[in-house]
Amino acid sequence: MTDENKSILMIPGVGKAAKADFLNLGISTFKDLLSLSPRAYEDRREERRLNSSSTMDATVYCRIRIERKDYIPSKRGGRTLKILAHDDDGSILELYCFNRDFLDKSLHIGSEYYISATVSKMRGIYRAGSFEIKTRAEELGFGRILPVYPLSGNLSQKGVRSAVDYALSALSPIQDELPYSLYEKYGLMHHSQAFYTLHHPKEIEDVKKARRTLAFTELFYMELETTREKNYVRKGTPVITGLEKRLIASLPFSLTADQERALTEIRKDLDSSAPMNRLLEGDVGSGKTLVAWISALHEISKGAQVAFMAPTELLAKQHAENAASLLQPLGIRICYLTGAISQKGRTLLLKALASGDVDLAIGTHALFTDDVTFKNLRYVIIDEQHRFGVEQRGSLMRKAKDPNLLSMTATPIPRSLALTFFSNLDLSLIKTKPSGRLPITTYLVSERKREDMFKAIEVEFKRGHQAYFVYPRIEEDEDGSIKAVERMYEDLKEIYPGYKSGMVHSRLKDDEKIDILNRFKNGEYSYLVSTSVIEVGIDIPNATCIVIEHADRFGLAALHQLRGRVGRSSLPSYCFLVYSDGISDDAKERLRVMKQTNDGFIIAERDLAIRGPGEISGFKQSGFLKLKFASLVEDTDLIALAKKEAEKVSKEDKGLIKAENAILRKHIKENIL
Ligand code: ADP
Ligand code: MG
Repeated sequence: MTDENKSILMIPGVGKAAKADFLNLGISTFKDLLSLSPRAYEDRREERRLNSSSTMDATVYCRIRIERKDYIPSKRGGRTLKILAHDDDGSILELYCFNRDFLDKSLHIGSEYYISATVSKMRGIYRAGSFEIKTRAEELGFGRILPVYPLSGNLSQKGVRSAVDYALSALSPIQDELPYSLYEKYGLMHHSQAFYTLHHPKEIEDVKKARRTLAFTELFYMELETTREKNYVRKGTPVITGLEKRLIASLPFSLTADQERALTEIRKDLDSSAPMNRLLEGDVGSGKTLVAWISALHEISKGAQVAFMAPTELLAKQHAENAASLLQPLGIRICYLTGAISQKGRTLLLKALASGDVDLAIGTHALFTDDVTFKNLRYVIIDEQHRFGVEQRGSLMRKAKDPNLLSMTATPIPRSLALTFFSNLDLSLIKTKPSGRLPITTYLVSERKREDMFKAIEVEFKRGHQAYFVYPRIEEDEDGSIKAVERMYEDLKEIYPGYKSGMVHSRLKDDEKIDILNRFKNGEYSYLVSTSVIEVGIDIPNATCIVIEHADRFGLAALHQLRGRVGRSSLPSYCFLVYSDGISDDAKERLRVMKQTNDGFIIAERDLAIRGPGEISGFKQSGFLKLKFASLVEDTDLIALAKKEAEKVSKEDKGLIKAENAILRKHIKENIL
């Protein structure tokens, strides 16, 4: 057994009880201790004297001189030792030594000591009931930056720090874990330095670099495991076909760098011998759909058929219209298949699909019922993949032999990111939105101030812009406390006489919904009153306002999706989140997050922090929690790098026999043992 795998029981001071507490933190070996990430750091390099503390419960570390010792009566009839001291500025400190009479013996009047204490100031005097006091400054970590670890059970910071330090010195010199070239290439710290910095940083700034190294390493090894299993060949630079070029040339804008990169990745996959399984992830309105169309042309140019599946009729229809206007001029034969189509029409369409007279089929899952056959289906695109169950995806994939699969999502749910590791899923990210988009301005509106909001929106109507009004439910409940679509549809008519409006909710038939949405899109209505059915994907650039009443009743992901219905053009746009008094703290926090940021990735991360990982379904099983340093949400860049490097290694040296990869072989072996 290597030292790394030695049990922490070998560490002086760690007994059975402490071992159990450590186990709760996921720690049983020396190496685990080394990888225990501090949750914070305390900078004790400089003395922090009493008068530096401005607030209640401030932390100080400084030298003091003891002036007096007294015993004062305590509440329960006992007595408490009270020590009077002053620091080098002469500020006065009272130390209350609850149940620590023993300090009377070891602390002497007129002597100097060092303390670390949490103090509060009252009537010019500082007091502390919780403190550490030592003769030597180093004993309190003065002069350095101290790690603050997560604790469990009876573990103390002091105990964990000394266990970590023991492991650090027992394992040193710590070996590198990556091939030399990677340290150079990405400016990583060597591992001995990274671990040392993690626990004993010289500067707080250095910790970032140490963590980056450790996160990269962690991701790299996970990727290495998955890529070594698949290991397929990808060709060099993919061709951009004539059809693709013509579509791109016809656009009134140019593609963003992220769209270009995603396309290159997708084209490479499509041209490779192995089927693609890629997730295209980008915030709402980042231009994923266009990437899908261009990549579809890549396959259609080869004579293959492409299927595009959307989660709702509403979206499928919108995509079909979008495709018709973009692709039909290029001679692409498109069909739109929904559950609503007549039997006769359906038979005709099915025939066209089977004979290859259709290049691109767009629809809902109705597209993939048993009677549908394709002549040469090679590429399947799924919009908002998380909305589909596993079975639905499965039935679709059976329509072709090993088709290429592109899943698109606007929800950076950790689970979908986790899939990049746990199944053979690749990831393309669109991080930046098309230029010229203004950020959406979000207002939190108290219910009492609704009138002002209604007026502000009317100004937008006068400019010819449109608005969404969203409510949590269709009908009013019994006590009428929650505003509902049907009722508000009527109320808003009174608020906005002279403006036309439409209403959609899930109880309408699909073709009714589509009809109303089309009218809204064509400008017939100034505003649309709706439930969250409009949450996903609806693209109406002229709508510049969205009002979400009872916003506290929606989750963060839903709020972000809903808000994404506006801000889809270069017009300034606004989101009004209406809340009532007395909402919960969590709800307040959600609304605050919405006001602070428009970035879906940050919102997902905050969502996770507020709700906790346990509540996100499937999250625990995803293996996410096994990660020590990397965050699947924050480290998306690092994930891509680690993946690239791991793939390179598996491609060039599958058996890890090259000298430079010996380190990888050794590391993998040790971790399996
Ligand atoms: P997503 O599917 O990622 O939510 P969409 O594909 O609906 O985003 O794109 C939103 C809007 O942005 C569409 O109207 C689309 O035409 C437009 N768009 C896409 N790419 C660009 C670009 N590179 N520059 C400007 N506008 C773009
Ligand atoms: Mg979309």
